[in-house]
Amino acid sequence: MSSQFQSPLLSIVAPCHNEEEGLAEFCRRAAAAAQTVAGEAFEIVLVDDGSTDGTWDLITKMAVRLPQVLGVRLVRNHGHQLAATAGLAAARGERVLLIDADLQDPPELLLMMMPIMDRGADVVYGQRTRRQGETWFKRASASLFYRMLSRLASVTIPRDVGDFRLMRRRVVDILLSMPERDRFIRGMVSWIGGRQVALPYERDPRFAGTSKYPLRKMINFALDAITSFSTTPLRISTWLGMATAGVALLLLAYTLARWIAGETIIGWSSIMAAVTAFSAIQLICIGIIGEYIGRLVQENKRRPMFMIESLVRNGTAAELSSDFSAMNAADKRREMERALSTLPAEERLHPLHSEARG
Ligand code: UDP
Ligand code: MG
Repeated sequence: MSSQFQSPLLSIVAPCHNEEEGLAEFCRRAAAAAQTVAGEAFEIVLVDDGSTDGTWDLITKMAVRLPQVLGVRLVRNHGHQLAATAGLAAARGERVLLIDADLQDPPELLLMMMPIMDRGADVVYGQRTRRQGETWFKRASASLFYRMLSRLASVTIPRDVGDFRLMRRRVVDILLSMPERDRFIRGMVSWIGGRQVALPYERDPRFAGTSKYPLRKMINFALDAITSFSTTPLRISTWLGMATAGVALLLLAYTLARWIAGETIIGWSSIMAAVTAFSAIQLICIGIIGEYIGRLVQENKRRPMFMIESLVRNGTAAELSSDFSAMNAADKRREMERALSTLPAEERLHPLHSEARG
């Protein structure tokens, strides 16, 4: 039994930011689904992404109650994509399910995802057919974003697909070896390729709490996605430049004609209009270039992707080496595996009847 637990068949990874209200229910449903497909050979990796509520207390409590729970606490809020990356780095399963902790993605879909992977898929991703309990604005902006991204991106990133997906170890390892800090996980997984299969599902409303993606974060996320998968916006600024040069030529011809006709003083408003239009276009183009340069600067700093404050299983914290933060994600994965293997062998408990322990 304990050898099974050392390399679980299945890891469920959920980033959590202020999710205390729904987390116990999430664990219950995730554990039940995992148990159906993997028996006892699974783990649930809960990443606390700098929560300010009782999320971490709850995670540590659950890590005592359920031996399958591994708690990972980030030093501060890193954002959904980096929290997910930290969770993927901590996961040791042969197959890894990445899922939101708010139960918008039903964990029970595992029962359909696993057989598809048994038949050879490398990635099985959930594709949303309907979104419940989301505002009109969220749905409209998401639809516009996915449309724009699929026009711009150099790899085909399927539409209406989030990060909810089951991945093989091989895919997770490649993902962790990719060094960029601006991570758009669903796009990176598409880039990896292999056999990727869509599984249509209906997205449920949140079980509890509110969305942790305010408009500002959504816009940043969209910009990260576009800049990391396309340089077309840079080309768009070139096209805009050429188009305005054409308009400027026409204006010049018009001005010359009026000059020849001896009407040189009129036209203040047309000059103002042209000046403001051209400066607006120039500012937009500089802005687009700035988006890319800013990201270049950030990447160039080679700062650690994420920092972990503690790693807890079964009420015991694993001791990470002091240079952990400075490691890349693949080395972090190995170091977490080593640190976890030093923990005392855990008692085996039935995940759904853990209370029986007293
Ligand atoms: N999340 C996170 N860090 C953040 C924001 C969100 O770990 O900075 C987690 C959140 O707890 C949830 C998942 O990411 O499990 C998706 O977030 P949310 O449900 O708020 O996004 P939405 O579904 O509204 O797009
Ligand atoms: Mg959500």
